[in-house]
Amino acid sequence: MPGKIKKYSEMLRSKSISSVELTTAYLDEIERSNGKYNAFVSVDGDRALEYAKKADELIARGEGGALTGIPYGVKANICEKGVVTDCCSKILTGYRPTYDAAVIEKLNAALAVPLGKNNMDEFAMGSSTETSAHGAALNPVNTAYVPGGSSGGGAAAVRAGLATFALGSDTGGSIRQPAAFTGTVGLKPTYGAVSRYGLIAYGSSLDQIGPIAASVSDAAAVYDAISGWDKRDMTSSPLSRSASDKLTGNVKNLRIGYLKEYFEGIDPEVKQTVESAFGFYEKEGAVLKEVSLPALKEALPAYYIIACAEASSNLGRYDGIRYGYRATDYDSIDEMIKKTRSLGFGKEVKRRIMLGTYVLSAGYFDAYYKKALRVRESVAAAMNELFGAVDVLIAPVSPTTAFPLNYTSANIIETYMADFCTVPVNIAGVPAVSIPAGESSAGLPVGMQLIGAKFTEDVILNAAYAFENSFPVKTDMGVTI
Ligand code: GLN
Repeated sequence: MPGKIKKYSEMLRSKSISSVELTTAYLDEIERSNGKYNAFVSVDGDRALEYAKKADELIARGEGGALTGIPYGVKANICEKGVVTDCCSKILTGYRPTYDAAVIEKLNAALAVPLGKNNMDEFAMGSSTETSAHGAALNPVNTAYVPGGSSGGGAAAVRAGLATFALGSDTGGSIRQPAAFTGTVGLKPTYGAVSRYGLIAYGSSLDQIGPIAASVSDAAAVYDAISGWDKRDMTSSPLSRSASDKLTGNVKNLRIGYLKEYFEGIDPEVKQTVESAFGFYEKEGAVLKEVSLPALKEALPAYYIIACAEASSNLGRYDGIRYGYRATDYDSIDEMIKKTRSLGFGKEVKRRIMLGTYVLSAGYFDAYYKKALRVRESVAAAMNELFGAVDVLIAPVSPTTAFPLNYTSANIIETYMADFCTVPVNIAGVPAVSIPAGESSAGLPVGMQLIGAKFTEDVILNAAYAFENSFPVKTDMGVTI
């Protein structure tokens, strides 16, 4: 599939449309239908049009790149200078960063067009956007369902045709699961491939920024634009490779692993849909191998311990003094901080801070946190070893299709458990892309995950690209230029 970005970019260059016209079409569509989906929590049309105008000037001079003039959405935890970036939390009400995230710097330099902030679960903790202080986003495929989370607003925006692509973040599945629930493409890059500078931290050793897009080539174009070493992020790496120029669709002799632990206990329709992809790849000349990783299931508890531990530390800075919301009516600083945090954080965030504080406390540190780190090491080592035998693993993204509204708050443990397909990837620091593989009998999208070794985004995206024609992203809603 050529993808929207390439198509629009060609139209911009051939002057059959201007970025101002394209951006206006998106702003109009947001105006018309964002009320239905709550995908954007804020939109700045004037700013978007300013960027679009400059993009048109750049293109007129024969300059610019793949993303010049292309309108996109930004998850509400990625800092943009002067733009409210509240992580959809009351505690960051009105917070305007004084700097741009590294990824935003890159997109601004390319004169891509930022439309506004996308809805998300509070501080990226959740799987449905229902923990957002701005209310949940709804799934454009069927509004009785959530678009997934935490980057659900971005996925909803892309599926509904309110943005060409969206920047999301993925700590335990937050790009891939919303992509799967909405029938879009979501890439979680290798840990270190994309700078986290300016990403408001949840679990710093797991967080990665990546694209949600309407095609594999779109996701590759965004990945190419935002990846690369950044001295301001100590964990960033110079090893990332470009992906757009490797999309041939040739998967001959590609070694694909079927990891049986991934297919146990998942919805039969999801299982069948994802398994049917193996037949496609075999026909295309790929080599299928059954592999096993018994430690896979241990990744889930390890994730919730590590992520919560890091969150409890990262979120310590929200004290009513430095950022956002401050409670009123207090007699001492201690009371002010206590009240601010009690009133400013939502229930799920508080639950995770408490869990994280508990697993880090003296007496429990060894039993939980240290043990989780050991499990992490063994899962990462086992995954590494697997990637000696295969190039790509195929797996489900989520054991079910999209959750109905209000499911997650009544089924907290089940919702955590549903992350078991995505979190091993974060635990191991490897890249994975989620692409649509089919639909359930209820008409809900089913996602499939292609997982690769570190810094093989080009390999997994090419494998995804090969499959994409058999089940492309539907781009039948919103702006359809
Ligand atoms: N569902 C996962 C969680 O709630 C994913 C979070 C994420 O990737 N930000 O932790």
